[in-house]
Amino acid sequence: MAIYYVNKNAQSNGDHEVHKSGCTYLPSSENRLYLGDFSNCHDAVREAKKYYAQSNGCYYCSYECHTS
Ligand SMILES: [Zn+2]
Repeated sequence: MAIYYVNKNAQSNGDHEVHKSGCTYLPSSENRLYLGDFSNCHDAVREAKKYYAQSNGCYYCSYECHTS
């Protein structure tokens, strides 16, 4: 299991990136939304999409959930 967060700020392409706790690219606490404890990034992205329809896995920490 891992703690996941979604970036409150969209990337230039409109994606809200989903990160695992500990990722180098994890946004600062005021710029991220806590999603919960998930066993995989797919569940985390599904949760993130309740807040931001255009959510996407981080290329670095959640590559298997990253779509370009
Ligand atoms: Zn990340």
